[in-house]
Amino acid sequence: MNNYLKINEGFITNSKMNSFKFCPTLFDLKYNQKIVPESRSDALIFGSAFDQFIQDDEKIMNEKYNVVKIRFDPKKKIKKIGSTMSEIEQEIREIEKIKKSKKGDIKKIETRNLKLQKLKEEKIMYQKNTGKEQLTETQADKLVNCLNEFHRQPLFDFDSKQTQISVEINYKGHKLKGTMDEFYPDRQLISDIKTAASIEGLDRKWIDGYTALEKYKNQLSFYQFLVEIKFDILCGGRLQVVTKEDPARSSFYMADKMSLLDNRQNILNTLENMMSTIELGIYSSSDNREKCLKCPAYGVCDYAKQKEYILI
Ligand code: SF4
Repeated sequence: MNNYLKINEGFITNSKMNSFKFCPTLFDLKYNQKIVPESRSDALIFGSAFDQFIQDDEKIMNEKYNVVKIRFDPKKKIKKIGSTMSEIEQEIREIEKIKKSKKGDIKKIETRNLKLQKLKEEKIMYQKNTGKEQLTETQADKLVNCLNEFHRQPLFDFDSKQTQISVEINYKGHKLKGTMDEFYPDRQLISDIKTAASIEGLDRKWIDGYTALEKYKNQLSFYQFLVEIKFDILCGGRLQVVTKEDPARSSFYMADKMSLLDNRQNILNTLENMMSTIELGIYSSSDNREKCLKCPAYGVCDYAKQKEYILI
């Protein structure tokens, strides 16, 4: 189980609500049946690296991330060798045995030695990457650019002591949770930091009918709701956005208390719908074929299993 699933097991979160809104069946396949993995897109990996990078750049980079030329997945077959990591390890052991026994002609032993060398390089790369998130060199360069822009932008302020605040509440028999990038109770302010492809892209509508900016605002409204229930503080929200362009750009957005409150009813409607669906255990499908085509469950989901025609 990945880290996001582990720490949010049993909770309704903003991200789970987004999956549910996209399609209730997708939510079921991802979070109940766990058949569809939580996506680890480049954008998500980059965003979470940035969130951590702004707290403690040097330490985080060394402890949690490896900068690599090409990302390495130990479960996948390694292309140039055609084996998985455990198959490679088995092969290394066998070649070592043959080498020790010194049986076979010299040419064969030399060829095996070359292969052994290659396999060992792959093994070292695997060990280096185990347990750490991998960033490509391009992503690492962009991270540094984004960080510089984040610190340059005169409107942004950031207090590393107020970061990654987790708020949990019980609501009508369900557990809800939100983890805010920043929370300032004295200023009645919640804040989220985002990385985006471009400023213009924030206003583009996605397949689910929302722009990125609308989704970010919904997220702030959800956090506002959690904080009000938990601490009895009604907060406004802000968004500090940095882009991955070259050079990096930034934009600052504020949503006052009332504007976040205006969104509250939408949040509550989605929650009610989601909670009653979870209680009933009946998850409907999407009626939008474009969504199915773009859905991570396409090919797994019973409603959209067939990906190609059958020749008759
Ligand atoms: S493939 Fe279609 S019906 Fe199935 S989960 Fe995805 S959006 Fe829903």
